[in-house]
Amino acid sequence: MVVHESRMDTTLPPGLYIVATPIGNLGDITLRSVEVLRGVSAVACEDTRVTGKLLSHLGIKQKLIRYDDHASEETREHLLRLAGGQAIALVSDAGTPLISDPGYRLIRSAREAGVAITSLPGPSALVVALTLSGLPNDRFLFAGFLPNKDKARRDVLAELSGVPATLLFYETAPRLCAALAAINDVLPSREVAVARELTKRFEECRSGTPQELIAHYSAHPPKGEIVLVIAPPGEAEPEEFDIDALLTAALKTEKASQAASQVSKLTGLDRKLLYTRAMELK
Ligand code: SAM
Repeated sequence: MVVHESRMDTTLPPGLYIVATPIGNLGDITLRSVEVLRGVSAVACEDTRVTGKLLSHLGIKQKLIRYDDHASEETREHLLRLAGGQAIALVSDAGTPLISDPGYRLIRSAREAGVAITSLPGPSALVVALTLSGLPNDRFLFAGFLPNKDKARRDVLAELSGVPATLLFYETAPRLCAALAAINDVLPSREVAVARELTKRFEECRSGTPQELIAHYSAHPPKGEIVLVIAPPGEAEPEEFDIDALLTAALKTEKASQAASQVSKLTGLDRKLLYTRAMELK
């Protein structure tokens, strides 16, 4: 009689397994992810302490290999060689790997090398924020972190101001008010949701105009991790305004730059584009 060991049936085929992990609530990990984390030969992770804690919470002992996209080519090749013959998991500190987290280079190289890849779905802060925000979700654009420098931050907002989709950005608590100030300058008429500490004890999702949110968070400095969700341009917005008439009226009393700022505040349109048009009208 031939007896198949059940281990034989459950042994994971070789390859890279992208495993999403909780973004706060440790219960948010799928059964399949736990199985894979238990069944692989090693786990590539950003921070061995962070992943070590999660695995110990799950009662899993695993070999951990530190990996991020700045890792040397050798480390990447080592992981790819391993994944050619064994099952290797890739996790980040929290959420879905590659989403503003390491993994892109590894997965790109794995595809080029013909290594099998499996992606296990799970938590990602952007999806939790989008679904909580009450803002349109039929079209959305996730743009990672807003830049740290003020000018670059405003440039990104101006660049995306015309995109007919809800915008999502990752943010940190110390930078929230600066980000809201930039949104207030570039997209003042948009509804914004600040989704904070998602899936954690002090989770909140606060909506308002950029101005209202600045007032709130200046008085109550936030803590924790944040996703900013910005409503798309109102459908009637650009057509409803006669931009030339507004600029011409403003130019009667203001310089082109001031006129552009005023009209930008009123319409939510890009100040730079309005400035160019104001100069043409002068
Ligand atoms: N890969 C992760 C994901 O799938 O969501 C994102 C990693 S990124 C380095 C970290 C950023 O994600 C934080 O600065 C914050 O903007 C957002 N984030 C992660 N966890 C969050 C949470 N529990 N609540 C709100 N935002 C969170």
